[in-house]
Amino acid sequence: MTSSTSEIYTTRVLRVRDKDRHTAWLAQLACEVNTVWNYCNELQIRVFERERKFITGFGFWPYLKGCTRGETALSLPIQTVQETAEQYARSRRQHRRVRLAWRKSKGVRKSLGWLPFKIRTIKYAHGQIYYAGKWLSVWDSWGLGAHELRAGSFSEDSRGLWYLNVTVNVKRSEKVPVDGGAIGLDLGLKELVALSDGTKVAAERFYRDMEPALARAQRAGKSKRAKAIHTKVANRRKDFLHKITTKLVRQHSVICVGDVNASALARGPHAKSVLDAGWSAMRTMLQYKCDDAGAWFVKVPEAGTTRMCNDCGAVSGPKGIADLPVRQWVCAACGASHDRDTNAARNILDRGLAILEEQFAAAGEAKAVEAAVNEIGQHARSVGVGHDPLEVGILALKGREDVKRSQKWRWG
Ligand SMILES: [Zn+2]
Repeated sequence: MTSSTSEIYTTRVLRVRDKDRHTAWLAQLACEVNTVWNYCNELQIRVFERERKFITGFGFWPYLKGCTRGETALSLPIQTVQETAEQYARSRRQHRRVRLAWRKSKGVRKSLGWLPFKIRTIKYAHGQIYYAGKWLSVWDSWGLGAHELRAGSFSEDSRGLWYLNVTVNVKRSEKVPVDGGAIGLDLGLKELVALSDGTKVAAERFYRDMEPALARAQRAGKSKRAKAIHTKVANRRKDFLHKITTKLVRQHSVICVGDVNASALARGPHAKSVLDAGWSAMRTMLQYKCDDAGAWFVKVPEAGTTRMCNDCGAVSGPKGIADLPVRQWVCAACGASHDRDTNAARNILDRGLAILEEQFAAAGEAKAVEAAVNEIGQHARSVGVGHDPLEVGILALKGREDVKRSQKWRWG
């Protein structure tokens, strides 16, 4: 058995718009999904009252048998019925509840339409998707025909537009741009990102810019207009983040990012800025773009990175949120003067590289074990997914101060 990395795949969800002429039909099917969901909920409630037991995803199957046949049959494919029940069981377990909220098909609190399906439920041909006995047209912005379509869902957004979300396997690139250098990112409120090389990317105030217009629309009771503004804000932010992350991944082979907890900060006085910054979206983008490009993405525990002097390691810097106004400081121990965010980004880079080093050491051990197992002729698993760190040698990269610091990242 070889440990070749030539057949590495990663999963990705592709999302394409369904053409509007299918809206009514999809909405009608979504009502049936709600019926199945609510049926599962009711069954679960009764079983719990009687036996104090929970039903698993498979456990629902016998009760749902035959619901797609006969006079009162649902129009849903059986795979959608089953997936709905399984999703119900998963959500219930995840939320640790005895019961979940009912899905509503009508009224002001109507649930957004949702049609899950399993692998081998939908078919693709000539730019159309076959589902539940019908060919649907989509705005195929991804070139779906090039992929094997797996499980997924149709879903409705708050404006009533429908989308197809489908999982596919995409091949990971094997190319590892070793010369790209390593960089640390400090996600912030004042600046969106500070980089370990001293560059900063300002946070765009997408939401705050649009706030007056949004307030006007809400006062005038124009909910459609308000929704359109929300969508516009979201699209602009996404576009901005895509540009930054693509650039970062193109120019670096190692990207280290702090694990700053957005949801905790979003409860505080900086809530609006936090939500506007889009940290988690940015991290997600970096993660999959790194996967694609064969670069390393390292999430680093952020605690203390602001306070620690990157030159001498003394804990002498400003204290997190409380000292947020402090942008520049001088280390009391060694006298080095620091920019708050750049210093933090450098600490994040150092920690990230240390984490990678540990991983590589572990991978090295696993590789040695694998070689030994191969030798005695047993079946062996290949270790690690994606990169082969030992061959690429990031350890060498770490030692090279010039690679680490001199790679000036130009923005614009
Ligand atoms: Zn110092």
